[in-house]
Amino acid sequence: MVRNQINVDLYARNAELAVRNKTLSLLHKLDQVTLSTLTTEEMTGQITATLAKEFLYPFVGIGVCDKRQSTFEWMSIACPDGKSTICERRAYQKSFSLKTIHNACTQVIASHRRAELSSLHKLLEPVIEKQLIDEVSTKGQIKSVLVFPLIVNGACVGVLAIGLNRSKKDLTKYEQDTFTPLLGLVTIALQKAMTYSSLVETTKKLRVANRRLKELDALKTEFLSIASHQLRTPMAAIRGYVDLIMDGSYGKLSDQQTEVVGKIHSSVEGLIELVGQLLNVSRIESGKTVLTIEPIDIVAIATDVTGFLSIKATEQKLNLVLTPATVVPVMGDAAKVKEVLMNVIENALKYTDQGGVTVSFVDEPKAVRVNVTDTGIGLDKNGIDRLFQKFSRVEASAANHPGTGLGLYVCKRLIEAMGGEIWVESPGLGKGSIFSFRLKKAPTALQKTQKTV
Ligand code: ADP
Repeated sequence: MVRNQINVDLYARNAELAVRNKTLSLLHKLDQVTLSTLTTEEMTGQITATLAKEFLYPFVGIGVCDKRQSTFEWMSIACPDGKSTICERRAYQKSFSLKTIHNACTQVIASHRRAELSSLHKLLEPVIEKQLIDEVSTKGQIKSVLVFPLIVNGACVGVLAIGLNRSKKDLTKYEQDTFTPLLGLVTIALQKAMTYSSLVETTKKLRVANRRLKELDALKTEFLSIASHQLRTPMAAIRGYVDLIMDGSYGKLSDQQTEVVGKIHSSVEGLIELVGQLLNVSRIESGKTVLTIEPIDIVAIATDVTGFLSIKATEQKLNLVLTPATVVPVMGDAAKVKEVLMNVIENALKYTDQGGVTVSFVDEPKAVRVNVTDTGIGLDKNGIDRLFQKFSRVEASAANHPGTGLGLYVCKRLIEAMGGEIWVESPGLGKGSIFSFRLKKAPTALQKTQKTV
């Protein structure tokens, strides 16, 4: 008799241990689910399926509220065999207003209190058809339903509902205790999935906004290109006639007339420069600038440019010096490098009142660096940071010198398209500047490549 009792006790103990083992392994499984990055739908699907399959709960459902807690939707419903119609998404995927439906589910959400119900109908009607609820209740012999609110930061974000084929009081203490860690895991998983889903949503919106911005940018570039082309021809005609007037081809001008026509002339020159730069920018931005990158003699190009600009320097009483150097060929597009040098040296002359400009070369291990050093107005840190952006001009210089703020932007795009870098350094305002760029040395086996920017 005693031995029999011992056997019964041992059997019961063994059975309890088996349940504990199974619970622990299930909790571990759920823990793994929480760690993966999933959308709310996927995450709740995995949790309900795991609970129904491993614990043989005849019904497991997870529902979530929207961000403002005004609507609710069953996200996933699972049964052990997964075959009941109620488990199909179309059977339960209906978002409903928490204000219009009054059942045990909405009560749990409103009160933040768990509930034990005597039937599944109290939880699911009228959102899910009675017939489908009958089917799963009969098949799973559901006697009670436990409904837990899922609370995050004091707000109820959803519910976890578990259908049982016995009442809660018939569960062992251990089974009852299991609900606490289970609830913790489900809440964390749901919170994570909701954050992930809202991130996915935001990324989607950003992508759409980005595409729209790109379209607008392309439109702007196209508009700029058309407008600039249309401006160029009449501008050239105006300049031609102004030149003729200034030359006296239409009669001798009075001093006052000379002054006015001179102003027209410099305004037209400024406009022509602006239109030219705008066209340059629109060509680059619409990918219509073709570069022929090949080994070039950078010193020869710089000599050419300084020779051309020496007249201007002399007019301004400035020294323009090129420090002779012998360097190996670099990879670049000769015409575009000339354009860059012309821009940087012209700027150096424009923003220098006294002293001069020196062009020098530094032989680096893999590249050749060109320095254009001036003794001009210099730059402070604020100015340096945004100098290479479109339409960026430093206030102090912009006030006294005409310009577009586009030249350095074009230089940067061109140099970078050739695989080089361009930058500026200055000891400070009034202390001159050094504009530098570097281009890679040409490989020994010379090659020519074409590139569109
Ligand atoms: P722009 O000279 O037509 O205004 P850039 O893009 O060539 O346009 O130059 C942008 C701005 O950078 C200029 O307006 C000027 O403020 C500043 N800058 C360029 N070169 C120098 C320089 N050598 N010294 C001081 N400031 C300069």
